[in-house]
Amino acid sequence: MTALAPSRTASQDYMTFESQVCAPNYLPIPVVLERGEGVWLYDKEGRKYLDMMSAYSAVSHGHCHPELVKELRDQAQTLCITSRAFYSSALAPFLQKICDMSGLEMVLPMNTGAEAVETAVKAARRWGYEIKGIPDNQAEIIVAHNNFHGRTTTVISFSSEEAYKHHFGPLTTGFKEVPFGDIDALEKAITARTCAFLVEPMQGEAGILIPPVGWLKKVRELCDRHNVLLILDEVQTGLGRTGKLFAFQHEGILPDGLILGKALGGGILPVSAFVSTREILNLFKPGSHGSTFAGNPLSAKVGLKALEILERDNYVQRSAELGNYLQNELKKLQSPLITTVRGSGLWVAVEIDPQKAPARLVCEALMAHGVLSKETHDTVVRLAPPLIIEKKQLDFAVQALKEALQDVESQI
Ligand SMILES: *Cc1c(COP(=O)(O)O)cnc(C)c1O
Repeated sequence: MTALAPSRTASQDYMTFESQVCAPNYLPIPVVLERGEGVWLYDKEGRKYLDMMSAYSAVSHGHCHPELVKELRDQAQTLCITSRAFYSSALAPFLQKICDMSGLEMVLPMNTGAEAVETAVKAARRWGYEIKGIPDNQAEIIVAHNNFHGRTTTVISFSSEEAYKHHFGPLTTGFKEVPFGDIDALEKAITARTCAFLVEPMQGEAGILIPPVGWLKKVRELCDRHNVLLILDEVQTGLGRTGKLFAFQHEGILPDGLILGKALGGGILPVSAFVSTREILNLFKPGSHGSTFAGNPLSAKVGLKALEILERDNYVQRSAELGNYLQNELKKLQSPLITTVRGSGLWVAVEIDPQKAPARLVCEALMAHGVLSKETHDTVVRLAPPLIIEKKQLDFAVQALKEALQDVESQI
């Protein structure tokens, strides 16, 4: 041996390695993570970071929650994947729990958020033809401007973000867009061929946008009046993130369809669901829809345990109380870079003045102070920690942000 093989231990080398073998469809914050525990993440050099991103809200339970890891390990040694060619004793208890918590009646399990959205689109269209009586192939689904529902070809077909669609056509037709939070525009867009309004009750990837109070309630009334299904994508807002179990509870309504994902897998597995009424879900007949891995015993056990822990440990209340605290502390920051602070529960956007600095720069400075987050578009720093976070850890995050903002100010 003459020369040492190139070391892959240093973070810098690893980032180069990953960029050579992994498609560049993300622009990661330059940190190489190796281990997680609760609200903390550790990089290859053993540096410790507070996770204020929680994998786009998938890690509400914190990293490697010991009870979830135990459930995973126990079930992994018992039965993992059966496909739905057979019944499994793990599935029904999980789905029953989702029904009990949401107030809806039946569930179609899937794996990723985008797949559950696809499922909702299929359900809404079938309902449109078979119950509402829309002529075949003419059903329309209304969506909101700046929506985010995932990345499959049909789902990007109704995105307003050009970067999501560029050179991925031809796209799926049958979607119509209205401004988010605008009840009059929605009413004007509804026709006899409208089968559903599909919307996030609060928009996540658009930058944590909160609609006017009362809007969702009016949407519910409008949908009832015109016999249109209200389908809420709560992949990100659901399961406590906004300070209620589901964001629709802020307005005391119940949707006809509810899409869940992200935190449903306890930060361990991809688990998603389309939750709805018997009338709607019974429109799926054997052979009409499916997924090899959906509803597998391993996911069902971890998902059920994740929901039980969320209830037992009062994640919803924590999110509401600590979210208010975080927002108040952030509003005290006197930084010329911040234009607004908004959010709901532990789901907060710090809007950075684009004239002064890109949000990306703030996130990179934040990393240097031991806190991880990611910009949304060019202007928003998103703060969405695991719901198990404690007050003193939020104080640490706010202090780090304060220092990061000062660093950025001194650079510009
Ligand atoms: C993340 C997200 C999705 C897509 O989920 P994936 O698991 O990434 O496919 C869908 N809808 C909303 C609102 C989301 O935030």
